[in-house]
Order: sequence, then C-alpha cells, then structure tokens
Amino acid sequence: MARLFAEPRLVVASHNEGKVREIADLLVPFALDIVSAAALGLPEPEETGDTFVANAVLKAEAAVQGASLPALADDSGLAVEGLGGDPGLYSARWAGPERDFNAAMALVQEKLGDNPNRRAYFISVLSLAWPDGHVESFEGRIYGTMVWPPRGDKGFGYDPMFLPDGYDVTFGEMDYDEKQRISHRAVAFQKLIDGCFRQP
Ligand code: IMP
Repeated sequence: MARLFAEPRLVVASHNEGKVREIADLLVPFALDIVSAAALGLPEPEETGDTFVANAVLKAEAAVQGASLPALADDSGLAVEGLGGDPGLYSARWAGPERDFNAAMALVQEKLGDNPNRRAYFISVLSLAWPDGHVESFEGRIYGTMVWPPRGDKGFGYDPMFLPDGYDVTFGEMDYDEKQRISHRAVAFQKLIDGCFRQP
C-alpha cells in the first residue's frame, strides 16, 4: 500500500507552466502550500532516464535535494503507434530548443506519411518523493488518434493533433476543465490521490 502524504508543503518539480498549473489545480482540494521548482530557482535536471518512471523519479528527487521538501514530478509524453512509440521519451525534444510544437507536430505528420496506423496515447507518470528517500510512482494513459491538420489553440504541446477516443474535439479544442477531467495526467492523479491522499 502506498505511503500517505501528510506534509504541509510540496514542490511541483516542473519548469513547464502548463503542467504546473494543471498539477496545482488538481491539488487544490488538499489545501497544500505549493511552490514550483522554477519559483524556487532550482535547476532543471537532465532527463537521462530510459523510462518515464525513471525520469519522473529523477526530477522529483532532484527537487527534494534542492529544496529539502517533498516534491511531485511528472514525466509525460506522446507515443504514436505508427512511429513505434515515438516521440515517446523525446516528446519535448522533438520541439527543439525553441519549444516549437507546430514544428514537432509537422514532424509527426511527416514521419507518419500515409501510414494508416495513427493510433496514439499520452502517458503521464507522477512521482512523489519524500526527503527520507521514499518514492511513490503512478501512471496514467489516454488513447486516441493523431489528426492532421492540427485543430484548436487551447492546451499545449501536441494537444491540437490528438483526438481522444470517444470525442469529436482534439485536446487543442477541448475546454481546459474537460481535459483536466480525462487526461493522462488526471488518470495518474486519481491513482496518486487514491494511494497517497486517501482518508486514513
Ligand atoms: P516532459 O514530461 O517535461 O519531459 O515533457 C513531455 C512532453 O510531452 C511535453 O513537452 C509535451 O510535448 C508532451 N506532452 C505531455 N503532456 C501533454 C499534454 O497534455 N498535451 C500535449 N502535449 C503533452
């Protein structure tokens, strides 16, 4: 059984504003004092892990060490079946140093070409690390299809190209609250809450 979280403060170990906002919003019911790694001036560790779990743990542990507080990190990405799971761990890097996701989406489309297999999923791993070295990790996924051209200007990253199963709007067209309810991060979050924030 996962360890219960009973600390008053938590570092959200991310420098991505979109993610920090989504994570902080999901934690509102728990009335925690939340601070982001960016606000604390913590450096962004290099993501050298070869799995999403390894990278999420590495980010959470780096923030714990830098802040001497418990930390929550997310490592996420997009896996496209027709591309053998790419961009996967390299989802952010496909956008280059400019974080140009129009270019990253164009690259997905170019590599897919006329491949009929446009199935894909977003994956999120959340790792919660305590200063005593304990870590809990939880994974969430949402499945869908890659569309072209991209649709909508909401969300971030690959959102305008991702049509979640059962919907006729892409994540780029979907209202923020709706995405927050169904996303890969929301699924991982529900597991985190059930595991670490459940009523004792
Ligand atoms: P990382 O978790 O910071 O290594 O980066 C994950 C990358 O995956 C992001 O920069 C986005 O490109 C992509 N990604 C993760 N979650 C989402 C999402 O909810 N929408 C769109 N793109 C996402």
